[in-house]
Amino acid sequence: MSRFWSRIVHQLDPYVPGEQPRGSNLVKLNTNENPYGPSPKVLEAIRLGVSDRLRLYPDPASQTLKQAIADYHGILPEQVFVGNGSDEVLAHVFHGLLKHDSPILFPDITYSFYPVYCQLYQIDYRSVPLTDDFRIDVADYAQTNGGIIFPNPNAPTGCLLSLEAIETLLNTHKDSVVVVDEAYIDFGGESAIALIDQYPNLLVTQTLSKSRSLAGMRIGFAAGHPDLIEALIRVKDSFNSYPLDMLASAAGVAAYEDKAYFEQTCQKVIHSREKLTTGLTEMGFEVLPSAANFVFARHPSHDAQSLASALRAEGVIVRHFKKPRIDQFLRITVGTESENQLLLSVLDTLV
Ligand SMILES: *Cc1c(COP(=O)(O)O)cnc(C)c1O
Repeated sequence: MSRFWSRIVHQLDPYVPGEQPRGSNLVKLNTNENPYGPSPKVLEAIRLGVSDRLRLYPDPASQTLKQAIADYHGILPEQVFVGNGSDEVLAHVFHGLLKHDSPILFPDITYSFYPVYCQLYQIDYRSVPLTDDFRIDVADYAQTNGGIIFPNPNAPTGCLLSLEAIETLLNTHKDSVVVVDEAYIDFGGESAIALIDQYPNLLVTQTLSKSRSLAGMRIGFAAGHPDLIEALIRVKDSFNSYPLDMLASAAGVAAYEDKAYFEQTCQKVIHSREKLTTGLTEMGFEVLPSAANFVFARHPSHDAQSLASALRAEGVIVRHFKKPRIDQFLRITVGTESENQLLLSVLDTLV
């Protein structure tokens, strides 16, 4: 507490990211990073970008990267907004598209950054409970709102909502922006980007942090109608004109060019997720059906927090949320085959 802080700073309750232990050999299954490195072509593009040209400012519009994303998804660059990680893109979305008179809606169990943005930008929100089996039921969103946002697949549950259900939501809330946060969509879902031409109220966000293994580069984007994109550009240009540095842009373009590497690593993660799910189920865990690069699991007779501490003592970190309804679950990132095997063998001694 300091008398120099502005009133808003006193009120903030900031997001707490998963632990990034320094210089240890812990098996990190706690922050949903990709266990496989970025494409070698991405690393080469970054190396090529290290030059005297770094004295110049980067392109404030990140036109090359926007074009690469647009080409990949079969849309126009005018339908794309890029930012310094999708967290930054989401911040601009809350500020520029979700701050209205009515409260916005999001699930009670969801990405815990959403209420933090609401606090920062003074946005009123209402949380809509997931069903008893931890799913989003779009019928529960039939109430006055200033916008709707949810991850698909949802975090930290991993559960996927169908495009059909998303279309129902878009059709029943034509006066609200519906934001679909697709941080994990490449691990088994179908992207709603295919719907942006049909629905001017749809905004989809994605990140290169998870499926493209570039969490350290901080690249995210939004896709939607040019009017929605313009709002985000206006906010960005009132905040930081150059959110993406030259190296990040070069890395992002190369990541979209190496489609084969991307597809191979996603398939490996999906395959390992299914094996991990089977292994956990055989030990008595209840595992929610996941379309992401993590699983959300609980054991009927072992306390989740105790399991997380015991795992940590054995060098494996997973994520546990001390929150209502989910405090008996562990969120476990899908690692390499050998990391998953280690996790399973440690758990085997604990349950
Ligand atoms: C990881 C994650 C993000 C943020 O991704 P960055 O691009 O790394 O900022 C956004 N939404 C959800 C649901 C996530 O899990």
